[in-house]
Amino acid sequence: MVNLRVPSELVPYVPYVTAWSSEARPRRRVVPRSTGAGIAFADERPSDRDRRGFLWDRFKLAYGKGKPMFGAVHPGRQRHAMDKLLCQVCAQPADRNTDGVLWMLQDHRDDWVGWPNRMGVTEPPICAPCVEVSRQRCPALRRSHALVRVNTMPVTGVHGTRYVPTGEGVAPGKSGPIDFGADLRWVLATHLVREFRDAVIVN
Ligand SMILES: [Zn+2]
Repeated sequence: MVNLRVPSELVPYVPYVTAWSSEARPRRRVVPRSTGAGIAFADERPSDRDRRGFLWDRFKLAYGKGKPMFGAVHPGRQRHAMDKLLCQVCAQPADRNTDGVLWMLQDHRDDWVGWPNRMGVTEPPICAPCVEVSRQRCPALRRSHALVRVNTMPVTGVHGTRYVPTGEGVAPGKSGPIDFGADLRWVLATHLVREFRDAVIVN
């Protein structure tokens, strides 16, 4: 696993999970796995897979170098923050009380009764001080946001691209959320997904 420690100094107002232009995807070639069904990188390294054995898209680690690509998420830092429940902005532990861990989401509470329960999320949680920063800095969240507390939010899968075998090798197919129950040997992962089970909206 790549060392995904929190940078010693975060750039103000650039979230920890945001990708930087110098981190753009390095060259990697996806090939059929030589040891069985599935995909691999032609020059795969142990750090390309997580502890569950899933292949993760390769990004450089160069936080703070170049320009921040707002809207683009660094797969390694997203996975780290989501796995450890760190604030997606400052990478400190997310806010937690007896009602659960704090999330700040775009507000879709009218989408279904009980929203956002049963939803798979790729945005890591947030800490209390960063709520105000996000409200001021993120245009989408300024328009509307929901603050949500969740105690039960298991990691249920990944967001990624499913590859398909072709005559000569493999080719990328559909991208989207993929549950752990699926055949993940063919998946190139980009985000860790948690599913909300007992979320309550608190604003
Ligand atoms: Zn924070």
